[in-house]
Amino acid sequence: MKPFEYARAASSSEAVRGFGPGTMYLGGGTNLVDLMRLGVAEPERLVDVSRLPLDAIESVGDRVRVGATVRNSDLAADPLIRSRYPMLARAVLTGASGQVRNVATVGGNLLQRTRCTYFQDVTRPCNKRRPGSGCPAIAGDHANLAILGASDACVATHPSDMAVALAALEAEVHVTGPGGDRIIPLPGLHRLPGEEPERDTVLRPGDLITSVELPPPPAGATLYRKVRERASFAFALVSIAAVLDVGPDEGGGGVVAGCRIALGGVAHVPWRAERAEQALIGGPATGEAFLAAAEAELEQARPLPRNAFKVPLARNLIVATLEELAP
Ligand SMILES: Cc1cc2nc3c(=O)[nH]c(=O)nc-3n(C[C@H](O)[C@H](O)[C@H](O)COP(=O)(O)OP(=O)(O)OC[C@H]3O[C@@H](n4cnc5c(N)ncnc54)[C@H](O)[C@@H]3O)c2cc1C
Ligand code: SF4
Repeated sequence: MKPFEYARAASSSEAVRGFGPGTMYLGGGTNLVDLMRLGVAEPERLVDVSRLPLDAIESVGDRVRVGATVRNSDLAADPLIRSRYPMLARAVLTGASGQVRNVATVGGNLLQRTRCTYFQDVTRPCNKRRPGSGCPAIAGDHANLAILGASDACVATHPSDMAVALAALEAEVHVTGPGGDRIIPLPGLHRLPGEEPERDTVLRPGDLITSVELPPPPAGATLYRKVRERASFAFALVSIAAVLDVGPDEGGGGVVAGCRIALGGVAHVPWRAERAEQALIGGPATGEAFLAAAEAELEQARPLPRNAFKVPLARNLIVATLEELAP
């Protein structure tokens, strides 16, 4: 590992002041330190933000604010989160292991990097790691990479489970940085790869995540489900965070009053399935309607030969989850 300078910040403003060229913030280090060991990340200076006093989970009016240094395990165990946002607690508990969750922070979880094997292997080209060097995953190992929103430059997926639940909950990410304070809606924090796959998010150099704010829980039932290769300690092949609000219609059946669907494991971002949501709202809450909505969403999928299985997997997961949520 390349030698680096280490500093611990006592406040958010001190962390931002201490950020310069070659600097990276350090959360729990469960992703960044791995990447440093592999030579993928080579910061000259680490500013440790893991002990900033941003570790509270608190009600703010009808919203809940989660500090950026809250550990993943504390978030999942918090009574306020478990009672008001069970889908978020569930999503966090499906990620990593107990030991990793005890260390990993909320800010670091949102900014963890892709698990594409070429990205993690410095002996191979990779547009995300070395812009312009190529994307060997397209002709190579892409079995767990993107089927939606990918580009010719990169087909990586975003790995966070928490981010998928937060996208369905329409959380806001609060950021402070050299340019001042900003609030970024979570479905807009991560970006599609386009021609610049090296940029995972819309954050600017030196931006520090200080908290994530949760709006009041949406009406309806919620669920997070994750399909993976083994029962624990594995990233999602496809995951879903879904909200379904069904009201009565005149004929005595159910009509979809509200619906939100976010998918994980399928794109460079937590993917809001807006086409499926639009197809469902105002219509009947039936298995046929759920299937038609899933198919409307996945019409835009552009799978590669070895990840085409994700299209029927995502379709079946959407339908099964909505059927479970429907009254
Ligand atoms: C074996 C293993 C299995 C895993 N499985 C899963 C899984 O199934 N699902 C899942 O979601 N995750 C999984 N993870 C990933 C794990 O959740 C992340 O490593 C962790 O959440 C990252 O948090 P951290 O605080 O350790 O971040 P760090 O590693 O410290 O940092 C990650 C990135 O965020 C930046 N950063 C950190 N804090 C801030 C901040 N406040 N503001 C701005 N930038 C910041 C760092 O500079 C770095 O770029 C797994 C990890 C391991 C090791
Ligand atoms: S998919 Fe993206 S991260 Fe993976 S090799 Fe291609 S450019 Fe690199």
